[in-house]
Amino acid sequence: MRPYIIANWKMNGSFDALDEAWGIDEAAGEYRDVDVAICPPATLIAPMADELSYAKAGAQDCHQAESGAHTGCLSANMIGEVGGTLAIVGHSERRQDQAETSAIVAEKLIAAQKTGLEAILCIGEPLDVRDAGEAESYVCQQLAESLVGDIDPAMLTVAYEPIWAIGTGRVAGESDIAAMHAACRAQLVERFGDVGAGVRLLYGGSVKGENAPQILAIDDVNGALVGGASLKAETFAPIIAAAA
Ligand code: 13P
Repeated sequence: MRPYIIANWKMNGSFDALDEAWGIDEAAGEYRDVDVAICPPATLIAPMADELSYAKAGAQDCHQAESGAHTGCLSANMIGEVGGTLAIVGHSERRQDQAETSAIVAEKLIAAQKTGLEAILCIGEPLDVRDAGEAESYVCQQLAESLVGDIDPAMLTVAYEPIWAIGTGRVAGESDIAAMHAACRAQLVERFGDVGAGVRLLYGGSVKGENAPQILAIDDVNGALVGGASLKAETFAPIIAAAA
């Protein structure tokens, strides 16, 4: 399976940040056996998509509707129109800040795929759920509820991001990551048959150049979704290199 390393810039990056994207693109050109994507703020998708040669550009979200009275939102079609080829859906920050439920996330995922975008589905548990020993059932339920309807597994990537590991410098233990990814893999195979074995499963949460080699070596970890360390080519390139 080709490893997949995705940058999620969140609400960071003005025009001058495009220089970092060009640096990331250079690294993607150097390691062509790794798929690389950058999801910048929506304002930067078009200029990025126009110029990137090796890395793909995508969005951090898309609306579930094709158009209409949804102030401030972007449809999957609009993202595709400016050259975006993927959309993250269900990031925990949106599930929290925008009160997105798995039912809404499921609709977004379908909307993204319907217009030809790859969907990157995020799932992950909060700390109290982990501490209560219920992380696996919580995440598996999120996965089941987010994968409803006519989904194309070939256009799907799943990212496991424990919420307590995002931006905290605290990475999940290797055995916990392995157990969660194995549980997700089993569920994907149950849902999609053999094709489910080919859906890439990424880990996200404080991934850095220093810990990427260990994380990416874990069974069923097929790449990483990276926040903080993806904002600079200098800190993101080593993660791409670790996946090669
Ligand atoms: P950090 O890499 O900053 O922990 O963020 C992870 C994340 O939320 C990526 O979507």
